Amino acid sequence: MSPEAPPRFEPSSEKVDVLLVDDRPEDLIAMTTILEGPLYTIVTARSGSEALKRLLEQDFAVILVDVLMPTMDGFELAGMIKKRERSRDTPLIFLTAAGSDVGRIYQGYALGAVDYLPKPVDPDVVRAKVAIFAELFRRAKRLEQQAKALREAERRERDLQITELKLAAERRFTNLAEAIPQIVWTTNPQGALQYANRRFVEYTGMDLEAAQGEGWLAAVHPDDAVQCFTCWREAVAKGVLYEGEFRLRRMSDGAYRWHISRAVPERNAEGQIVAWLGTHTDFEDLKQAIRARDEFLSIASHELRTPLTALKLRLQALLYAKGLEEKLEKKLESAARQTQRLERLIDNLLDISRITTGHLELEPEELELAEVAHEVVERLRDEATSVGSQVQFEATSRAGGCWDRLRIEQVVTNLLTNAMKYGEGKPVVVRVSEDERAVEISVRDRGMGIADVDLERIFHQFERATNRRTAGGLGMGLYITRQIVEAHQGQIEVESKVGEGSVFRVRLPK
Ligand code: ADP
Repeated sequence: MSPEAPPRFEPSSEKVDVLLVDDRPEDLIAMTTILEGPLYTIVTARSGSEALKRLLEQDFAVILVDVLMPTMDGFELAGMIKKRERSRDTPLIFLTAAGSDVGRIYQGYALGAVDYLPKPVDPDVVRAKVAIFAELFRRAKRLEQQAKALREAERRERDLQITELKLAAERRFTNLAEAIPQIVWTTNPQGALQYANRRFVEYTGMDLEAAQGEGWLAAVHPDDAVQCFTCWREAVAKGVLYEGEFRLRRMSDGAYRWHISRAVPERNAEGQIVAWLGTHTDFEDLKQAIRARDEFLSIASHELRTPLTALKLRLQALLYAKGLEEKLEKKLESAARQTQRLERLIDNLLDISRITTGHLELEPEELELAEVAHEVVERLRDEATSVGSQVQFEATSRAGGCWDRLRIEQVVTNLLTNAMKYGEGKPVVVRVSEDERAVEISVRDRGMGIADVDLERIFHQFERATNRRTAGGLGMGLYITRQIVEAHQGQIEVESKVGEGSVFRVRLPK
């Protein structure tokens, strides 16, 4: 291996600009003559202020400044040059008359000047010094260009990487979409279908071209198509989560099967929707199972009700019989209460099947909420006493409305029996009040309370927050209560703290 050659000073030929500042024209001409040639573009200035003007227009490789000039001398000019950001690093050569003041020369150095040349100048020395600065300038310029080229190359590389990452993400999405058993699809921001996975093609027998835009609607059951499309357009217009249910035709047997469909908007960093990502999931089997369950519930509760009614009547007849032993009477009363509870459970089951089949019908009449509530409280007082709860009733309003009496009774009964069941034997307060918009009934207990995570859940079918088997129940009461309240255009809400109790509020609009 040959040893590396030491770097050599090889002036390149690229022309650079040199500024000459001198008040004497003959000196300017002499200096121009010395430096003239293919290497430099000479710019001259006859005063400090003219030099500053030139420096505003362009950069120079080096500035040669006569120290002795009227108005602004060379040192003053140097001070200005060094103050300006753009020219701060431009090398300066001072030209001094023979026998110049040495103190002034030091002052020049303190300004950061780079060199001195005594006048009259030696042409070779001038050329040699200027050549060095010119070459430094060229190299700095080349370095800057190289750095720029490097930055450019890096930017291109980064762009490439981003594009690759994007492609990889897209590939990932497509692979995932192909791997899952559901139908997966994407649309443009306006909601026109662009992509659907293979499962869609296999399921519907419709090829992608036919499905594009709104073509997919042809696979939706004709009875569901309008509703499905309207819902979808609404979600797209609002830019919110889409959820829908409709029947989709399965090509293999021609059957229309229920699907649940969901889609979310995909947004860019600015929050604009760039696409929609959606799925259709076949839940026909689940739906059939639910239907079978509801049918069973309906039949079972009807069947259970018949013997129960007979039992209730027998117990009542016994209770009305005269001359009963006190002990026996107590037992009969207890049996009557148990049958009442059983009746409520069965009625709840019946209601659930009514609600799921959309048959919860109301028979509204003019009522006073306080009166209905009071009646229920009185009816349940014995039961409350048997679990050790005091029930207090307060009414600050006698407002009424057009409601279904039995259903409103049911709401109060459900809330009150819950307060008794979960109220740990502490006092319960039932209060009826009103404001400008609604009549309100609240039921407050001081019992176990409900954890925040369960507050919403308990209003759903068969959901319970407790796993205490001792507090019997099927998780139907609050679900039915909410359905009844909402059927009356009302609202139900709960506030609760674990260990401190709960308050349920039902508001019925005036
Ligand atoms: P059930 O009482 O038959 O379980 P509900 O639908 O009436 O069904 O109530 C659902 C759940 O809500 C209950 O299981 C219980 O966990 C909770 N809950 C309802 N009311 C109260 C209350 N007053 N205090 C504490 N928990 C309650």
